[in-house]
Amino acid sequence: MKIGFIGLGNMGAPMAANLGRAGHEVTGFDTADVTVEGVKKAASAAEAARGAEVVITMLPNGQILRAVADEIIPAMEKGAVFLDCSTVDVDSARAVAEQAARAGILAMDAPVSGGVGGASAGTLTFMAGGPEEAFEKVKPLFDVMGQKAVHCGGAGAGQAAKICNNMILGVTMIATCEAFALADKLGLDRQKMFDVVSTSSGYSWTMNAYCPAPGVGPKSPADNDYRPGFAAELMLKDLRLSQQAAESADADTPMGKLAEALYARFVEEEDGAGRDFSAMLPRFEKRHRG
Ligand code: NAD
Repeated sequence: MKIGFIGLGNMGAPMAANLGRAGHEVTGFDTADVTVEGVKKAASAAEAARGAEVVITMLPNGQILRAVADEIIPAMEKGAVFLDCSTVDVDSARAVAEQAARAGILAMDAPVSGGVGGASAGTLTFMAGGPEEAFEKVKPLFDVMGQKAVHCGGAGAGQAAKICNNMILGVTMIATCEAFALADKLGLDRQKMFDVVSTSSGYSWTMNAYCPAPGVGPKSPADNDYRPGFAAELMLKDLRLSQQAAESADADTPMGKLAEALYARFVEEEDGAGRDFSAMLPRFEKRHRG
């Protein structure tokens, strides 16, 4: 397929490289002058989009996505697919989808989970929102870049699924870390705590698959001095998106709101920036009640 790829950062570069390696004709653009093996360089986003059957964007936020959409939609051919894989706010995803539809372009939001490791290995999970026709057209690309793609519904449904998932993730990571810190203070051995909780009703992905306690459970960023993994600031970004969506949809999300506030403090006022989001555990360890 002839593919335009805009946003060749930590995630976009390996995704574009995998598409090139699979035999697709990929033309890429990034405002930072990046070179990706197997990807032809374009001088602008519009140039990368021109004549492409699918244009993929992997950008930092909704504002940048809207600006890039203004540039590429007029350059795209009718019937082509605009596939945004960035994590952005639901309102931006829906606005861009409407703009694309008015121009006869099939839009799909398809944020990912799996991180930089998944992007390199081609094992991402895609959560897709948009018309069935678009999903069918880009399915072979999902198969190259990922291991699973779920068609969640219409425009914005992919972003909605992603932020709801990550709101659960942020809240459960905090709960798991504060429970470990309490267990420490009660004199409970961490391994015993893991053995019980991971097979009891308190189990979760954060405990069982990504345990925040070093040396306990499967290997995780805790075993690598809390180097990310999934950085605390990315968790903060997703929690903020969840609260923006909750505000816009008038949904009551008290735990999500608390998690946002706690990660904001951790990243912006404490030592959380640049650390994995599971570094909440050493944070709680140092603290006292009140
Ligand atoms: P990044 O900052 O490494 O990459 C973004 C790229 O976009 C940069 O190279 C930047 O130069 C480029 N860019 C910015 N403005 C542009 C413009 N107007 N035109 C063209 N290029 C432009 O970020 P990333 O880690 O690759 O993340 C990309 C998206 O994926 C984000 O929305 C992020 O939330 C999401 N995401 C990231 C991860 C992760 O672990 N890194 C995991 C899941 C989802």
